[in-house]
Amino acid sequence: MEFSLPTGVVQSVALFQVTLQGFENGGFHDAINDCQKFGVVTCGRKFGQQCGQRSVHLEIDIYAREPKFEDAAAEGISVGVNTQINALSKDRLGEVFDTIVAHGVKFWQMQLTVAMGNAVDNADILLQPCDIRGVAATVTDLIERARPIGVRIFPGNNMGYFAEHEHLWRTLTSEPTHWGGCTAGETTLGLEADGTIKGCPALPSDPYSGGTTRGGSIRNAIEALAPKVPRKAHSRGSGFCGSCYYWNVCRGGCTWVTHGISGTKRDNPYCNYRARELAKKGLRERVVKLAEAPGRPFDFGRFEILVENEHGHRVSKRLAVDSKKRPRGRKLELCSNCNEFLFTTERVCPHCRASRLRPGAGMAGAELKVRALLDNIAELERAVRMLSLQEQPKPPVDN
Ligand code: SF4
Repeated sequence: MEFSLPTGVVQSVALFQVTLQGFENGGFHDAINDCQKFGVVTCGRKFGQQCGQRSVHLEIDIYAREPKFEDAAAEGISVGVNTQINALSKDRLGEVFDTIVAHGVKFWQMQLTVAMGNAVDNADILLQPCDIRGVAATVTDLIERARPIGVRIFPGNNMGYFAEHEHLWRTLTSEPTHWGGCTAGETTLGLEADGTIKGCPALPSDPYSGGTTRGGSIRNAIEALAPKVPRKAHSRGSGFCGSCYYWNVCRGGCTWVTHGISGTKRDNPYCNYRARELAKKGLRERVVKLAEAPGRPFDFGRFEILVENEHGHRVSKRLAVDSKKRPRGRKLELCSNCNEFLFTTERVCPHCRASRLRPGAGMAGAELKVRALLDNIAELERAVRMLSLQEQPKPPVDN
């Protein structure tokens, strides 16, 4: 197999990292030679400092072979680990943690298994959306165990979002940071083996392609991708995401995940905040496969997102909406009371109801109290509307 990073790519965009996928059949060293000046992260099996490689990320397949940590260490290469979280691995993350710590690994990236390719054929291995709350708690617990011993755990872009864990998952400096939306086609590009340029390496080719390296320039491809950039989408998502408090910032999380489930962007049932807010109403979501993947590269199947009550009975999707008001603006900050992100325009934290304004800070104390009360009334009105929706008689729906 021959690999060559097209010269046009190098000349027309500012590359700072190249991720290589595949290469199980060889050609890996040539690829690294071509990319080494950009810094290489890879999931590949073979590696070597003679190629200029400085770090390697290994996938731990907990059901098959032992990862070659020592081989990398012998080459003087720092080792990171990538792990997929799915129905098979979700209860074994503690085991993986102990293994990598024992081998001196310092970086661990996790991501959810996405409903594409083989994972569609074997859909039983996919997490259900209601599993996300437990996974999020486990990951946060591991992050807290890892920090004092100098191990960095990075939940991937397809994991999240917000709720009580967000600042712990994303913050790398003293400034609390949060997920800012899918950047496919904006700060990330994918390049397929046939030269197809798309918004992200994981996405399917046709809906997210901006052209090919054979037929045009990278610059033209980036321009063609501009209307497809998820963060710039004007239309809101369907389902809970479109009503979500965080919509202006998040826009449905990872496009790879949402496309895998619904064949489109902006409706992500694998969200921690979404699962939590639905659980507060006694609701949960379940994904059910409707169609197989057709068996082509980067293929997806088709799934339906069902809404169920706590007894497992299917209920109207109209109930699966966020009860919190969706504010204007995009700037978030941490609530000092509950450590969840809220918009800077908010006077009362929508998560813990703590007032954020100090008396005398530009507003009279009485006015502050009135505004806080008005916010509380609006919140109660929304809760009453939801209750009346729940109590409307509904025709029975088959599972
Ligand atoms: S519900 Fe959707 S829009 Fe809201 S935080 Fe989750 S993924 Fe983002």
